[in-house]
Amino acid sequence: MCIFCKIVNKEIPAKIILEDEKTLAFLDIKPVNPGHILVIAKKHYPSIEEIREEDLSAVVLTLKKMGKRIKEKLGYSGYNVNLNNDKVAGQEIPHLHFHLIPRTSDDGLKLWPQNEYKDNEAEEILSKLTS
Ligand code: 5GP
Ligand code: ZN
Repeated sequence: MCIFCKIVNKEIPAKIILEDEKTLAFLDIKPVNPGHILVIAKKHYPSIEEIREEDLSAVVLTLKKMGKRIKEKLGYSGYNVNLNNDKVAGQEIPHLHFHLIPRTSDDGLKLWPQNEYKDNEAEEILSKLTS
């Protein structure tokens, strides 16, 4: 059983902020900034492609509630919502989870660098994605 399933089953402790029928929100054990929250479906889905729509909707609603709380209760003025989907994208725990990362203007967290498309590359990509 995965570590987040163990948290759902209360086999290992976690600092749980909200639990409802389908979702759980708890503090990340190693926060980027204090108040870094993980939101999961209680059912084990490896990635966003597998999750049932009703569970995903519930997860998104919990994300929304947690974002509001980060601002209202912790005084942050913004946050990132991040999903590391699959190992190559940095996913270490194979139980779909969204990160809610509270931000400050001086936290030094850098987002990804951006590149330019080569000639015709964007058209080729678009054609593949829409075929
Ligand atoms: P990933 O890299 O899979 O997107 O993120 C996994 C996250 O889970 C990491 O930010 C890590 O700090 C957090 N994490 C790993 N193990 C535990 C744990 O046992 N309890 C809690 N609360 N968070 C954990
Ligand atoms: Zn799991």
